[in-house]
Amino acid sequence: MHRYHTPLDLVRERSPERPVAFARPDAVALAARWFQDNFKGDVFYAVKANPSPWVLETLAANGVRSFDVASVPEIELVAKHAPGARMAFMHPVKSRRSISTAYFDHGVRTFALDTHEELAKILDATGHAKDLNLMVRLGVAAEGAAYSLSGKFGVDAHEAPDLLLAARRATQELMGVSFHVGSQCMRPTAYQAAMSQASRALVRAGVFADVVDVGGGFPSVYPGMVPPALADYMDSIDRGFAEMMVHETT
Ligand SMILES: *Cc1c(COP(=O)(O)O)cnc(C)c1O
Repeated sequence: MHRYHTPLDLVRERSPERPVAFARPDAVALAARWFQDNFKGDVFYAVKANPSPWVLETLAANGVRSFDVASVPEIELVAKHAPGARMAFMHPVKSRRSISTAYFDHGVRTFALDTHEELAKILDATGHAKDLNLMVRLGVAAEGAAYSLSGKFGVDAHEAPDLLLAARRATQELMGVSFHVGSQCMRPTAYQAAMSQASRALVRAGVFADVVDVGGGFPSVYPGMVPPALADYMDSIDRGFAEMMVHETT
């Protein structure tokens, strides 16, 4: 690996004919530290954002102990490059095989779901394990997101209470709610709004959640797209959390 101060230095020196990828481990370390210092819950890194081994290793070296994974290959990457890390399998649709591999071979205990069928599948594929943390993915309105995910995953508001109740009854460990406001979310208030939507579903179900997973969507700066300060997002999450029926935070 070669080191350059700027992309322009590489262009001047090597005039590459083929595509080149730049790694900026200092930027990864800085972001990892920022979230650990400013987010009041546990920080999980969503591996799909950038699964490069150097990214996972840099995160692990900078205090990130938890990873959000969406497939067995991602689980294997984390096991290899951040050994001992905690993983949450947050894809709401999984094969039986991938659930049992995650549970039995990699010690994964946290699984997301957005249907009764997926809940039954998780229970079945883990041999009706008693130590599961079950995260119900809610579909939320994506105000201000550049890339909405609400059409893709998440139980709708009408069916959420019944599923929350079923998940609550299915585990003696943690039951949580999760959502994703959409990637590159430009409006901090989207988190508070999603959390109050989650609260309404919990109240209607008559259950408490132990965990709230606020997903991702924290924006980057792109040309013509300058987001509000990340601290504003943390404030919105704190306000939303204060109003929720929960026992803990993630
Ligand atoms: C993709 C994803 C994230 C991270 O989202 P970004 O928009 O990349 O920040 C977090 N949680 C889940 C469940 C995801 O699928």
